[in-house]
Amino acid sequence: MIDLHTHSTISDGSDEPERVAELAALAGCSAFALTDHDRLDGIERARARATELGVELISGCELSCESEGAGPRGSMHVLVYFVEPGEGPLQDELVRLLRVRRDRNERLVARLQSLGMDVTFDDLVRAAGKEDGIGRPNIASVLVAKGYADSIQDAFDKWLAKGQPGYVEKERLTPETALRLARAAGGVPVLAHPLSLGQTGSVLQSTLEELTALGMGGMECIYGRYSDEERAALRTMADRLRLVATGGSDHHGTFKPDLNVGSGRGDLHVPDDVLDRLRAVAR
Ligand code: AMP
Ligand code: ZN
Ligand code: FE
Ligand code: FE
Repeated sequence: MIDLHTHSTISDGSDEPERVAELAALAGCSAFALTDHDRLDGIERARARATELGVELISGCELSCESEGAGPRGSMHVLVYFVEPGEGPLQDELVRLLRVRRDRNERLVARLQSLGMDVTFDDLVRAAGKEDGIGRPNIASVLVAKGYADSIQDAFDKWLAKGQPGYVEKERLTPETALRLARAAGGVPVLAHPLSLGQTGSVLQSTLEELTALGMGGMECIYGRYSDEERAALRTMADRLRLVATGGSDHHGTFKPDLNVGSGRGDLHVPDDVLDRLRAVAR
């Protein structure tokens, strides 16, 4: 059994990278991928612990993409496997995006101050427990702590969601760029939780065809929160396009308490040979 989709404290999970490795071992995984959002910084730590435990760590990340105009519309998450931390076409872009995110957070704090709130960048760093990779959920928790919102969701609804007064635009990769950089770095891109596209039937089919032509190597059919029927329907689509049907829990620790490493909600089982098929389409 393997798990090709997990998050740690490097992005928005509650478990340290080493702990995710321990959970994979406890679950009986032979291999697992750490796929933090837009970052590879947890890979070495997770691998060191995984090696001690006799579990294989697959290097990975999950890219947040958005397309404007032509092409597969809307937002999309793309998992990338086999890209190691260090320098390279995708790696360098991730470093740049991290810098862009910091600038955006500073502008976001300035916006909230202009709305009359007593919030500083330091408050944010303290609440997030880190300087880099701070996101809107961290900002939301500061707004709750300071009494500007009743809950994380309320902070989004009142201030931080797109269209609300505290929203500041964030630069995202287009799917085209993400797929190009992933392949250029020697990685295999895989469409994460395909039903999040909000498409079905022939519309989804043609989006998948377009993505396959752009270099997509697989799609996540065995997803933690999908039903057996959904998993089977996605597998049929993947087979038709010769995309590798992958799977993973999307473990985030206490932030998504229903999703455990390896077993998801208890009905997840991703067979070992998925990894062999994924390796076979690396080029
Ligand atoms: P950021 O990358 O800083 O823009 O933050 C994105 C994260 O904010 C997403 O992964 C969600 O967890 C959360 N988020 C975005 N929009 C909403 C919303 N309308 N309600 C609740 N959470 C949201
Ligand atoms: Zn996440
Ligand atoms: Fe995702
Ligand atoms: Fe995820």
